[in-house]
Amino acid sequence: MKIPFIDFRREYRDLKKELDSAVKRVINSGHYILGKEVEEFEKALADYIGVKYAVGVGNGTEALHLALLAGGVKPGDEVITAVNTCAPTISAIMACGAIPVLVDAHPLSYCLDSAAIPAKITKKTKAVIPVHLYGQMSNMGHLMAIGKRYNLKIIEDCAQASGAKYKNKMAGSFGIAGCFSFYPTKNIGALGDGGMISTNSRDLAVECRRLRNYGETTRYKHDSLGFNSRLDEIQAALLRVKLKKLDEWNRRRRAIAERYKAGIDNPDVILPEEMECARHVYHLFVIRVKRRDYFRNVLKAKGIPTLIHYPIPMYRQKFYLDLTRKRDYFPVADQLAEEIVSLPLYPYLRDEEVDYIIKIVNSYRPVK
Ligand SMILES: *Cc1c(COP(=O)(O)O)cnc(C)c1O
Repeated sequence: MKIPFIDFRREYRDLKKELDSAVKRVINSGHYILGKEVEEFEKALADYIGVKYAVGVGNGTEALHLALLAGGVKPGDEVITAVNTCAPTISAIMACGAIPVLVDAHPLSYCLDSAAIPAKITKKTKAVIPVHLYGQMSNMGHLMAIGKRYNLKIIEDCAQASGAKYKNKMAGSFGIAGCFSFYPTKNIGALGDGGMISTNSRDLAVECRRLRNYGETTRYKHDSLGFNSRLDEIQAALLRVKLKKLDEWNRRRRAIAERYKAGIDNPDVILPEEMECARHVYHLFVIRVKRRDYFRNVLKAKGIPTLIHYPIPMYRQKFYLDLTRKRDYFPVADQLAEEIVSLPLYPYLRDEEVDYIIKIVNSYRPVK
C-alpha cells in the first residue's frame, strides 16, 4: 500500500460541485477583494466560534501579527508563548518589534505548560499566546486566571485548532483575539492562503480591519501604519462551503484517532493523550517513539510517509537566538523533539489505510 500523508484531491472529489460553483460565482460577480463573500464568511465563522466579530486576513501568521498590534503590543514588549510551536508564532511576535519569551511544553498535552508562565513574567510582559498545538486546546482555565492576575492579554493561536473546544467553549473565544489559519493542511483549509481573527471586542475588530487594508481609517485617510493582508473573495467563497463540513470532518478525525489508539499496542510507542477539559480535533496525530529516524525509515519502506512537527524547538533557531541571545533550558521540548512523529490523519484517510498503518506500527521493534 502507498498512502499519501495528505491528499487534497479526495476532498475536492467529494465537494467538487459546490467548490466549482463557488469559484464561478465569484468570477462572475466581478468583485474579487473585500466583498460579500468575505463578509458572509466572517459572519459564519464568528457565529460558529460564538464571538461577535471575525476579520478575514491573508494568513495565520498575519492574523497573529495584526491581533498583537491591535492588542497594543509595542516594540520592546515581551510576549510569552510555547517553545515547541512552529516559526510563524514567533515571527508574528517579532514583526511587532516585541520579544518572544518561551515556556516549555507540558509533558502530557504538548501544549505550553501554563505552570511555567509566572516565572517568566517581567514588567515588560504584555501578552501570552497559547498555541493549541496539534488540535488540542491549552489549559485555558489556568491561562485565563494568569491573564487576569497579571493583567496580560491572551491571544490564542488557533491555527491547528479550528473547531476544538475547552469545556464546551470554542477555540478562539477565550482571549481578546483568536487567530486562525486556512493553510491547505489545516482542519479547514483554503485552496491557497487565508486567515481570520476572532474577537468580542468591537474596537479590536475595527483596528484589525484598518490594519489589513493599508491602515485606511476612511477611504484614502491614513492615521497610522497599515499593511496589506486581506482574505480574497475566491478563498472566502471556498471556505464558506468547507465551514459547513468542519464539524463532520473533525468527528472523522476523532474517529480515526480512536481507531489508532484502539489498534496500536506496541509498547515502544507513546500515544497522544486527550486532556480532561479539551475536545481534541486531531489536526495531527503525534506519537512518540525511541529511535525515531529508524522508525520513520521502516514506515517509509512500507509506503507510509510521516512528518515531524517540529524537529527544532524555537529556542534553538538562529532567528530567535540572534534577537534574544538567551540561554534557557527546555527539557520537555528537547525530549519531544527527538521522539515525536506524526502519522497520516485527515478526514479522507480510509479505514483500511489506518488499519494498515496500525499493523506496520505494531510490528516495529527498535533494534537494541
Ligand atoms: C499554520 C500555523 C501558523 C501560520 O499560519 P499560516 O496561515 O501558514 O501563516 C501559525 N501557528 C501555527 C501553530 C500553525 O500551525
